[in-house]
Amino acid sequence: MYDLIIIGAGPAGLSAAVTAYEAGLEKILLIERDSELGGILNQCIHNGFGLHLFKEELTGPEFAGRFIEKLRDTNVEVMSDTMVLDISEDHTVSLVNSSGYQHIKGKAIILAMGCRERTRGAIAIPGSRGSGVYTAGTAQRYMNMDGYLVGKRIVILGSGDIGLIMARRMTLEGAKVLACVEINPYSSGLQRNIKQCLEDFDIPLYLSHTITDIRGYPRVNQVVVSKVDEKFRPIARSEMVFDCDTVLLSIGLIPENELSKSAGIVLDPRTKGPRVWENMETSVDGIFACGNVVQVHDLADNVAAEAKKAALAAARYVQQNRQQDGELELKTAGNVTYTVPQHIHLPLSEKLVEVSFRTNRVFGKCAVVVADREGNAVCRYSREYITPGELQKISIPAKLLEDKEEYLTVKVVEEQK
Ligand SMILES: Cc1cc2nc3c(=O)[nH]c(=O)nc-3n(C[C@H](O)[C@H](O)[C@H](O)COP(=O)(O)OP(=O)(O)OC[C@H]3O[C@@H](n4cnc5c(N)ncnc54)[C@H](O)[C@@H]3O)c2cc1C
Repeated sequence: MYDLIIIGAGPAGLSAAVTAYEAGLEKILLIERDSELGGILNQCIHNGFGLHLFKEELTGPEFAGRFIEKLRDTNVEVMSDTMVLDISEDHTVSLVNSSGYQHIKGKAIILAMGCRERTRGAIAIPGSRGSGVYTAGTAQRYMNMDGYLVGKRIVILGSGDIGLIMARRMTLEGAKVLACVEINPYSSGLQRNIKQCLEDFDIPLYLSHTITDIRGYPRVNQVVVSKVDEKFRPIARSEMVFDCDTVLLSIGLIPENELSKSAGIVLDPRTKGPRVWENMETSVDGIFACGNVVQVHDLADNVAAEAKKAALAAARYVQQNRQQDGELELKTAGNVTYTVPQHIHLPLSEKLVEVSFRTNRVFGKCAVVVADREGNAVCRYSREYITPGELQKISIPAKLLEDKEEYLTVKVVEEQK
């Protein structure tokens, strides 16, 4: 029996493993299906990682390397090339690797399986079925890990960070990126990526546009891009035709939760990840989750911090050192689409409760307001700018929540200029 089993060795799993060891757990197992540790970071060879955590600008593999180095000084057992197939509510983990199929048990489990990309089928783009249509992350893996340039004339659908970063990467490798096309009136990527990956390379960003036809067989040779109205319906006679051989799709990520479902964990239909408490525990006692499997993060630094929280809570669970009497639900209002966590244990063991959320529209000068059951503001955080592409965070002082009952509501309100 392990004290703790961690599934997935991206930044979430690595940070959780190191933290759990430092918190005193003795028998920890880290399981990874890939042959290398590091998760998605191994294909992110650009810099921009670690600015918050290490106060340095690292590449993805360097960021992962910092944790892998630390892991070497621990007695954490690592099983790579091992796929977890199932988890049950009683913490039995079923896995397969070259030694065969086996079941193992952990007193606690941390889920850190990351997320997967949405594909062409998910948004049903019409047109022929020629080759040359890739998700941006797949193209990134081919490019950065296998040394394979997927095309020469590229159109990118979606302005998520992976698409933006691939626009720059393909350009640097000699391909021509003709356009980045975004259905929303705003980009879903980080502002810094729009500047550094599109504007610096004169790559046009078409907001409120989408691809309405992909042409060419056996290889893509054209795409049709149309303007859309406020209900995302293509506007007739607004079509532009691009001669290209490749389409990259950066149209969203979905938390990887097949295992969470098999364990009977309650998922949030908004995040598509487990509903979690403030300590990252899921609805199943002793099973915790962190990183992109819970919500899609922009920054690996935040993933590592969230994993630390999950690992400390898992250690407390194994060491049977916790006290929980009451609970508060976190509801959303207005343009806030979800919060993580979705509920809070009382009394709180930490001085601050960190809450992250996204909105479904852009705000200028505004305030994030947390209100109690009676609608009274418990706390308020001013913001100059909020965009759906950037994960928002607030920290609520625990002492403000001591006498609160049933639920809190998180909303964003516009502030007068
Ligand atoms: C293209 C791109 C660019 C990015 N750029 C930046 C940036 O500039 N700066 C920044 O801070 N962040 C950036 N990020 C974000 C950051 O990389 C991610 O948020 C982070 O890697 C998520 O960490 P994770 O551990 O949750 O998931 P992952 O890194 O995806 O790791 C999950 C791991 O779980 C394993 N796994 C899944 N299922 C199983 C199973 N059943 N059995 C065993 N193992 C399993 C996977 O193989 C994987 O290794 C970028 C992300 C992408 C995709």
